[in-house]
Amino acid sequence: MADKVVYSTDPSYCTACGKSPCVCADKKVRPKQPEPVRLSFQRGAKGSGVTKVERMILHPTLKEQLLKKLKSRLGCGGTVRDGNLELQGDHRDIVEEELRREGFPVRRIG
Ligand SMILES: [Zn+2]
Repeated sequence: MADKVVYSTDPSYCTACGKSPCVCADKKVRPKQPEPVRLSFQRGAKGSGVTKVERMILHPTLKEQLLKKLKSRLGCGGTVRDGNLELQGDHRDIVEEELRREGFPVRRIG
């Protein structure tokens, strides 16, 4: 199978903002969150639990960048799982601060 896969859809189309090319990086024109980003701390069965950011409307690449920024500021591990940001440990205060700085409305749910 050496053939290239041809996508019928525009490869620069972004499912987060619905634009091609993606405008998620532009704070002025990117789509508004229809509802606040949900911030919670979920204790795991083992370990210290994770700080979770859900319902964020942002291009996956930018989510990765944001996660990286948070990880380096917090000095913790983390991942993007199912479109949600997960950071090891309870970092709700700093994560909320960073999200607000990025222009996201935040609602704490846990
Ligand atoms: Zn986008």
